[in-house]
Amino acid sequence: MTAASPETSSNQFDVAIIGAGIVGLAVARELLLHYPGLRMVILEREHEIARHQSGHNSGVIHSGIYYLPGSLKARLCVEGAELMYAFCDQYSIPYERCGKLIVALDETEIPRLDELERRGRLNGVSGLRRLSAAEITDVEPGCQGVAALHCPSTGIVDYREVCRVLGEELKSKGVVFHFGEKVTGLERTGGTTQVRSENATFNVGLAIGCAGLWSDRLAISAGEFSGPRIVPFRGAYLTLKPSPVPLVRGLIYPVPNPELPFLGVHITKLINGDVVLGPTAMLVLARDAYTSWRINPRDLWGVLRWPGTWKLSRKYWRTGVKEIFMKIFRGQLIREASNYLPTIRQNGVRWGESSGVRAQALDRDGTLLDDFLVTEAPGSVHVRNAPSPAATSSLALAREIVARVQISPDWKFHESR
Ligand SMILES: Cc1cc2nc3c(=O)[nH]c(=O)nc-3n(C[C@H](O)[C@H](O)[C@H](O)COP(=O)(O)OP(=O)(O)OC[C@H]3O[C@@H](n4cnc5c(N)ncnc54)[C@H](O)[C@@H]3O)c2cc1C
Repeated sequence: MTAASPETSSNQFDVAIIGAGIVGLAVARELLLHYPGLRMVILEREHEIARHQSGHNSGVIHSGIYYLPGSLKARLCVEGAELMYAFCDQYSIPYERCGKLIVALDETEIPRLDELERRGRLNGVSGLRRLSAAEITDVEPGCQGVAALHCPSTGIVDYREVCRVLGEELKSKGVVFHFGEKVTGLERTGGTTQVRSENATFNVGLAIGCAGLWSDRLAISAGEFSGPRIVPFRGAYLTLKPSPVPLVRGLIYPVPNPELPFLGVHITKLINGDVVLGPTAMLVLARDAYTSWRINPRDLWGVLRWPGTWKLSRKYWRTGVKEIFMKIFRGQLIREASNYLPTIRQNGVRWGESSGVRAQALDRDGTLLDDFLVTEAPGSVHVRNAPSPAATSSLALAREIVARVQISPDWKFHESR
C-alpha cells in the first residue's frame, strides 16, 4: 500500500508503528499476539521494509556474552536469541548455529577476555568454554591466538529474510502498511495521538516510534527534547574471494575495547556462504551514508552542534583516525583480520564494499549509550537506542515494550473501544 489520502476515517487506528525495521515489525507482531483484534498501521518512510540497519548488518544471532550483567541488552539478547531461533524454525528461515570464537592475540588482552567470560556466565550464555592456544585450532583450524572464548550458541541468519517473513505475517493478520510515509510530528490531544506525515494525518490511540537512525528526531517531535541524539557510525565490510577450502567454520571476533559499544572488526561467515571482514566504525555525516563520504547538511549540523560529539571526539580521536585510515587503505582492514586468520592475505578480497550505518545514541556529556533505551511520552513510546544486538533481541525487546504498554494507564485506549 502507498500513501494515504489526507484526513479520512481510514486514517484511524488503535496503534501506529513508525518504522518497518526489525524492531517495529517485532513490536507489531507482539501486540497482535496480545490483542488479536487491534487495528494497526505501520508507517515507513522508505518504499520497502528493512531498508536501513535491519537490512545492512552482520547477520549474527548474538549469544549475550558482552553485555553488562543486569542490563536490558544482556537479558533481551539471551532471551531474544532463543526466540529468534524458534521463529526461524517456525517459518523455515535458514540459519546456522555455527558458533563463535573471541580470540586474545596476546597476554595484554587476557584480563578483558576474563571479564567477558565472567559476563557471559552471569548472563546465562549456554555452552561457553575457555580455550587454550592449542585448543583454538580444534574449533577453527586456520585461527591463531593465545587464548579464546568459544560460544557454540552464536548463529547466523539473514535478517532481511526475517523481516520479510515478519512483514508477510503481519499483512496476513490485517496490519496496514504505508510505505513512502515519512512521519514528521506527533501530537497528543484528548485521548488521541495525531501522527503527521508528509502526506497525511493519522489518529491513533498509541504511536510507537521504532525509527532507528531517525529515532531522536521523532521523539523530539513528540515533545521529548531531552535525551540522547543519534550519531551515525558507518560500518564497511569487505567480502573475501571464494576459497576451495572453507576459510572458517564459524565466526572469529577480537577482544573488544570495553569503552566502546562496537565489537571490533570480525571475520563473519554469512548464511549465503560468503565470508566478510568488518564492520569498521566510522562517524559519518549522513544518517544514510551507504556510499562513502556522503554528507547530509541537516545531519552534519546535528552532529556538529551536539556537545556530546565534541567530547567524544576529544576522548577517542585516535580511534577515529584509525577508522578513517582503514576506510582509505583497505589493506589495513585485511592486515587486522589476518592477525587472527593468516590465510586471508593469500586469499584476497572482492572489489567493492558493502556497508551499514549504526544508529548509536550519544549523550550530551559524550557518553555512547551502552544499553537499549525506550522512553515514554503522552500517547507515544520511543525506542531511542537499539543498536546491536537489537536484531538478535528484537522479539524479546518487543515483549518488553508491549509489557510496558500494558501497565500504563495512558494506553487503555483499546480497552475503551
Ligand atoms: C553494520 C551493522 C552490523 C550489525 N550487526 C548486527 C548483528 O550481527 N546482529 C545483531 O543482532 N544486530 C546487528 N546490528 C544491529 C541491528 O541491525 C539493529 O540494532 C537493528 O536492525 C535495529 O532495528 P530497528 O528496527 O530499530 O532499526 P532500522 O532497521 O534502522 O529500522 C528503522 C526504520 O524506521 C524508518 N523510519 C525512520 N524514521 C522514520 C520516519 N520519520 N517515518 C517513517 N519511517 C521512519 C526507517 O526508514 C527504517 O526502516 C548491526 C547494525 C549495523 C549497522
